[in-house]
Parts: sequence; C-alpha cells; structure tokens
Amino acid sequence: MSTTSARVAAPVMEVFASFQGEGLYVGQAQVFLRLAGCPLRCAWCDTPGSWDVGEGRAAMVRKDGEPPAREERWASPFQAALWIASVEPGEPRTVSVTGGEPLLWPGFIQALRPMIQPRRLHLETAGAHPEALARVLEHVDHVSLDLKPPADMGETVEISLPEPSDDDERAAPIDERAPRNAEEWRLARRRCLDLVRDVDACAKVVVQAGRDPRDYDELFEDLARRAPKVPLFVAPATPMAGCEAPEPDTLVEVVERARELDLDVRVLPQMHRAMGIA
Ligand code: SF4
Repeated sequence: MSTTSARVAAPVMEVFASFQGEGLYVGQAQVFLRLAGCPLRCAWCDTPGSWDVGEGRAAMVRKDGEPPAREERWASPFQAALWIASVEPGEPRTVSVTGGEPLLWPGFIQALRPMIQPRRLHLETAGAHPEALARVLEHVDHVSLDLKPPADMGETVEISLPEPSDDDERAAPIDERAPRNAEEWRLARRRCLDLVRDVDACAKVVVQAGRDPRDYDELFEDLARRAPKVPLFVAPATPMAGCEAPEPDTLVEVVERARELDLDVRVLPQMHRAMGIA
C-alpha cells in the first residue's frame, strides 16, 4: 500500500456531539471524532468496538435526534470536517479526536486541522506512539495522554487493513510498533512525556480493582521528572466487561502517592459514563 501524503483518509467509526467526560476539559461541549483501529488491549477498555479498522459504516449521530446517518467509513479530512459540522448543535465546538488509537493516522490529524478552523483540536491518545505524537503535536491544541500501567495491558496486536483499490485515498497506519513489554512502555511513556511537558496537556491513569498502589509509582515518578506541570487525572475504572472499580482505600493511597511527588493530581470518574451519555 502506498503511504504517500495524498493518502490521508482514515477510518471513522462515529462522529457525535456530547460533553467531555474526562480530563482537563471535563464538562465542555465538544464534538467527538472517533477513529477506528487500536493495537492495544487495555484491561478496562470501554470501546472494544473500535479495535478493528473493519469495513463497517461511520455513524453520524444527528442533532435532530433521528437515527444516525451511516456513511462509507474511510473519510478524507475534508469529509470528516463536513460530518463534524453536520452533527454540531449551535456554535462551533472543540473537536476531540479519539479512538481506538488516533495516532495510527497522523497524516489525517495533520490535514484535519485547517479543515475545522476556528475550532480547537484536541487529541486523546494512549501514549504508545511517540513518533506519531511528535508529528501531530504542532497541529493540535491539547493532548490528553494516558499513562498505561504495563500490568493492565494485554498483548499488542497487528492492525490488519482491507485491501485498497488503486484509486482510493486510504492511509496506511503509522509504521511505529506499539510497546510490547514493560521496558518498551517505559521508553514510549518517557518520550511522550518529554513531548507534552510544555504544551496544553493532561495525563490520565485508570485504576482498577485489585491493583497495588505501588503499581503506579513509576508512572508518577516519570511524570514528576519529565512533565511536572502537566495535571494528572486519576480515573477509577468504570465497572464493565469484567473490570471492577478500585477499592476506595486503594484510590486514596494512589492519590497520596502522587501528591508526595508534588503532582497536580485530581480524581475524576468517567463523567459521561456516570451520566449515561455517549
Ligand atoms: S488504547 Fe483505548 S481503544 Fe485501545 S484498548 Fe486501550 S482503552 Fe481501548
């Protein structure tokens, strides 16, 4: 498959307007652009339907309450910008690109930026692809960066793509392998933190039941050393799919261990899940 810059179409799973449920901009009215494809397998994943690129249709959740419109999944940045405008009630909103792992498609994110102005563009990423993050950093206004405890990560998988035709514009996913073990996660995490230390960013860590608060020490130490001004959001796992919320004592101790490092730490459950909205 060609990887020329002209091929920047990415697989869009859904586009919808809602309220940001996580991180620094929680509660803000935004439009979410969810890209398909993720090579990771987090224990607490709440969007496993986004893992496969697949050939399904992109869903545009309509602002008039009618059933979602379905469109060809692979979209150019221009097409995605039209979809964003079509689902957006009222004035232009900040656009959050989420997934899946949106950093599989850095060319798409770069090209999306001029298409959606004057809106802000926020990126929600797992922090597994520092090279891709470096490519898009100057094209986004905010980065929400997950800090992944290696113990919670399942086995990384290859992204498989449907065969392209000669004239389509599908991008290939970035040729940057996701971390496969604790050492590779350490390297990726540190490189990502170095990149976001002086930009508008936040870090997020999910805590699930049965974890030892010490499991998060290395993540917090990396944050304290490399990006100490970046606020840290501790998110208790939303109970679903065999994953349980952490014990309250565990959550408190996790937070205290972050505070001992002078981190700007805040506890925030997934608000959109708590409210039962998308
Ligand atoms: S990175 Fe996101 S989409 Fe991928 S497995 Fe983890 S939580 Fe799910």
